[in-house]
Amino acid sequence: MSFIRTATTARSAAAAARRFSTEAPAQKKSNNLALYLMGAGIAGIGGYFYFSNVQKPKQTKSPLDPDNWVDFKLKKVIPYNHNTSRFVFELPNGQASLLPISSCVIVKSSDPEALKDANGKPVVRPYTPISHSDKEGELEFLIKGYETGLASKHIHGLKEGDKLSIKGPIPKWPWKQNEFEEVGLIGGGSGITPLYQILKHALPDPSNKTKFKLIFANIAPADILLKEEFDEWKKKYPNNFDVVYTVDKPTPDWKGPSGYINAELIKKEIASPELKEKTKIFICGPPGQVDAIAGKKAGMKQGELGGILKQLGYTEDQVYKF
Ligand SMILES: Cc1cc2nc3c(=O)[nH]c(=O)nc-3n(C[C@H](O)[C@H](O)[C@H](O)COP(=O)(O)OP(=O)(O)OC[C@H]3O[C@@H](n4cnc5c(N)ncnc54)[C@H](O)[C@@H]3O)c2cc1C
Repeated sequence: MSFIRTATTARSAAAAARRFSTEAPAQKKSNNLALYLMGAGIAGIGGYFYFSNVQKPKQTKSPLDPDNWVDFKLKKVIPYNHNTSRFVFELPNGQASLLPISSCVIVKSSDPEALKDANGKPVVRPYTPISHSDKEGELEFLIKGYETGLASKHIHGLKEGDKLSIKGPIPKWPWKQNEFEEVGLIGGGSGITPLYQILKHALPDPSNKTKFKLIFANIAPADILLKEEFDEWKKKYPNNFDVVYTVDKPTPDWKGPSGYINAELIKKEIASPELKEKTKIFICGPPGQVDAIAGKKAGMKQGELGGILKQLGYTEDQVYKF
């Protein structure tokens, strides 16, 4: 980040200097002043380069550790809707997480006594950060709270300044820009975060050519997470991103499809399996939804392809279950 800022500053300073040098001399006095300011500016830029390079060497290591639990301090809680909040954790010394795309982390309570299952074992759950991997000093999650949910209830009970133990990254699909012509994303509820992570990384990249289509299922319109960002991306990247929302319980003003994601909707909205290796479908949602659409996951493994996607002719290679 600081490199980009430095390069941009240098570019605009150089452009300013070029502008100065090609301008016709208006008055000798003011020209001298301009030269003086320019000299001082260049010295300043030199200093900026020097200090930014000396004080902030390029970060190569993540503050997260895939082999050990590290406690991070909760910096901010930002309520999102009736059951979901954003949780922003502090990364020490302004470091970035450097998480690969795509990946998640696993979390548990920093107090070993505070969060245990019925057998007395620590409760560990995966969550996908929604902040950019190069976001300095912060790691942000969007977490839905379940009244009977062990980990989510614990996290929703944390106060600013409290700590959470985090381990990661846990690598998921190793995303490569432009590996696919068309990507279908199928999300359910808070299962949207891994799909959001890919989109947030891929879409702003000017080299991106992949066309993404997201089908996002929720209980009711009020449950749709990150809708404002998806709607903005649809406007900003009209040739590369589109989204369809479906809800189980539509409100009277709901205009989109309703009910569960079915074969008809997938056939209509998502790239055909005939695109072979040029397409990939990513799915993340509650286990029942993943099972019905793509077949059960086998623990951390992908499990056999089943459900609607298999019926529609997609192959195992074309589908990735988060
Ligand atoms: C790769 C991955 C990334 C994830 N990222 C996120 C994320 O960024 N944000 C987030 O909020 N969640 C995310 N989850 C889900 C998260 O890991 C937990 O499963 C969820 O928070 C519930 O855990 P719990 O301990 O609170 O509930 P549990 O004690 O495990 O279960 C309590 C109740 O919640 C229900 N339940 C459990 N999980 C789900 C679910 N996913 N959808 C619907 N009902 C469920 C159970 O049926 C049960 O009724 C992710 C899951 C995976 C596999």
